[in-house]
Amino acid sequence: MSTVISAKDIENILARGGDVKSLPADAILTPSAKDLLRDLNRHQPAVVAVPAPAAVSAAPVAPSKTLNSKSPKAELEAFFNSAYALDLKEQICTMGHRLWERAYVDGNGGNMAIRVGEDIAICTPTLVSKGSLKPSDMCLVDFEGNQLLGTKKRTSEILMHLQTMKRQPKVFASCHCHPPYATAFAVAGIAPPTCMLPEYEVFCAVGVAPYRTPGSPEMGKLVADLTDQYNTILMANHGVVTWSHNSIEEAYWRMEIVEAYCRTIVVAGQLGKPINTFTGPQMKELLNIKQSLGFVDPRFGLKECELCDSNDWRPGVACAAPAPGEPVVGLDPEAEAAVKAITDQILARLK
Ligand SMILES: [Zn+2]
Repeated sequence: MSTVISAKDIENILARGGDVKSLPADAILTPSAKDLLRDLNRHQPAVVAVPAPAAVSAAPVAPSKTLNSKSPKAELEAFFNSAYALDLKEQICTMGHRLWERAYVDGNGGNMAIRVGEDIAICTPTLVSKGSLKPSDMCLVDFEGNQLLGTKKRTSEILMHLQTMKRQPKVFASCHCHPPYATAFAVAGIAPPTCMLPEYEVFCAVGVAPYRTPGSPEMGKLVADLTDQYNTILMANHGVVTWSHNSIEEAYWRMEIVEAYCRTIVVAGQLGKPINTFTGPQMKELLNIKQSLGFVDPRFGLKECELCDSNDWRPGVACAAPAPGEPVVGLDPEAEAAVKAITDQILARLK
């Protein structure tokens, strides 16, 4: 026989910390019990909402057949409209929105690409703010930059992403934007100093590429040349590009990490104290973690003593007495004579 459940019964269940989802499926609810459940649903949907099986489905898997730029158009179209491709397009949009919210992009700046076959990639369109990207904006291109599918025109900087993918087989996804602090280092043409924060050391390996016109093959080549050893590349007087062998989100994480790091060390450099750095063995441990994660880094083969002694960056304001024996240049001879006369007088008085 079915149990009759009143509003009072539901209140008792909730008071004991119970879950109304455990009510018998054939229970008969009184009108006041129904009202209460409806109320709970409205205000605390998580408490009583039973997820439909379809809502808990796993991420779509990549198609078993690897496509390329010569695949029949119908197959490319079917792929481009598949659940797997839609999922990747949505991931790009989510990352685009995060880039915009963090002010890592300006105007229509920034672009992303994901490798989806032997020589094809899904990428962002040109002239669209990353803050308003939609899955339907995405383009499919071959590795020469020719657009295969998509209604909007592909990004003008696609060659850099594609040359990177061609050169480094591990590149699955790449992200480019202009985060202000990291871009400031790119403008100064210097890689941020190392050996200060663990996340930066584990997730990023930062190289600097010289300036070339954005979108030009020369720019793409200079970035691609660095991808064997670096996953985060500062493009001089331009911005940053990151790549990942796992996901577009991981490429985006690198952007957050390098930007937060640059901001932190700029502030640390203004505190008037020497900056503490890791010891060689501490750094070695971080690099071991990095290697185990499959990330690249040019320092894997170095000895511990070589890891943290090669920084050529110094905080903006540095005051230090010259080392003994180091020639002092630039002193005014007259001032020097005056200092000597005063010192002699003081010493004479002390006698
Ligand atoms: Zn750019």
